Amino acid sequence: MRFTRLLLANVMPPVVKNFDYLVLGGGSGGIASARRAAEFGVKVAVVEQARWGGTCVNVGCVPKKVMFNTAMHAEMMKHYKDYGFDVEMKGFDWGVVKKSRDDYIKRLNAIYETNLGKSKVETLVGKATFTDDGCVEVNGQKYAAKHILIATGGHPFIPKIPGAEHGISSDGFFELETLPKYVQNNHLKLSFCFSFKSYIFFFF
Ligand SMILES: Cc1cc2nc3c(=O)[nH]c(=O)nc-3n(C[C@H](O)[C@H](O)[C@H](O)COP(=O)(O)OP(=O)(O)OC[C@H]3O[C@@H](n4cnc5c(N)ncnc54)[C@H](O)[C@@H]3O)c2cc1C
Repeated sequence: MRFTRLLLANVMPPVVKNFDYLVLGGGSGGIASARRAAEFGVKVAVVEQARWGGTCVNVGCVPKKVMFNTAMHAEMMKHYKDYGFDVEMKGFDWGVVKKSRDDYIKRLNAIYETNLGKSKVETLVGKATFTDDGCVEVNGQKYAAKHILIATGGHPFIPKIPGAEHGISSDGFFELETLPKYVQNNHLKLSFCFSFKSYIFFFF
């Protein structure tokens, strides 16, 4: 035991900073909790390994709603003439909506980070891992905290069923550079199918 402690002391970096509250994950849950805690005057930091805002902002609610709205426009256009609008539909460019959606998300990433700063929450960028003595390591630096929140979210799960290899997760959907002609149907993709189908109905 004493030997292990000596060994760890040699291997692990010393604690560089102490916080009252350390939040792992800069998504909806982590950011909300960190900002609220900071309002009470405690010393808070959030660690994020990817993009500020987490799933909701980057590959969830926000881009989903943009795609849903795009499909709504496509759907409504079909009825424009009945309402007296003289609009000629000449085509649809998936690349345009993808770029404006991605640009919008980048602006949100920056806004989320700025708001953390305004709330006096320190931001740490990198993958957080626990050390054997209950601290957190990020980019080789060791941090200690009285309280640690694990708000690291989840990952898409691809079921092991025949044909699953033909499907994509919602993360994959948002990476599509072009509009696919074939759509796999599953629970979470219901609204995405709606997005696709408006286009398919309209353009193919
Ligand atoms: C396609 C889709 C559409 C959705 N639409 C809606 C909707 O319309 N309305 C709604 O209410 N909800 C929606 N959701 C659900 C919503 O996005 C999630 O409930 C919410 O984002 C969960 O927040 P969270 O903070 O728990 O996790 P996340 O937002 O996933 O945040 C976790 C963060 O932790 C980071 N992280 C993970 N491990 C580490 C580590 N070791 N070190 C540092 N950082 C780490 C990740 O990079 C991530 O940024 C949707 C989800 C999906 C996938």
